[in-house]
Amino acid sequence: MLTKQQQFLKERIESLEKELKTLRDSCQHYVGRLKAKTGEITPYACCLICDAMYGTYCEEAPDHLCHYDVNENGKIELPDGREIEPPVGWKKLRDEKRCFYCHEKEEEKECLESEVKVVFN
Ligand SMILES: [Zn+2]
Ligand SMILES: [Zn+2]
Repeated sequence: MLTKQQQFLKERIESLEKELKTLRDSCQHYVGRLKAKTGEITPYACCLICDAMYGTYCEEAPDHLCHYDVNENGKIELPDGREIEPPVGWKKLRDEKRCFYCHEKEEEKECLESEVKVVFN
């Protein structure tokens, strides 16, 4: 059996976790490369507010995310739902599993200490 104190803590944690989820769900993402919690620079694009992950960060892509494939319409889908034409030569890059914009492979992506850029909003 939990003591009164333990029961109180348990309920408090559950309620805060619920609140945290609500806050995360309402986040208007501000995406860069710095992990919000640790401050560590990663090759990944993350929301600086809620820590949501978006895949690898790209210096060249219009939305600053690496793109390795097209959707069923033959377009690149941006996180805000817009679709854009893939750049010339994308088929070869897809076969080589390279990003259409920076031409790097996901697993070889380097952790460049460049400035944090806004992707959307
Ligand atoms: Zn966010
Ligand atoms: Zn890229």
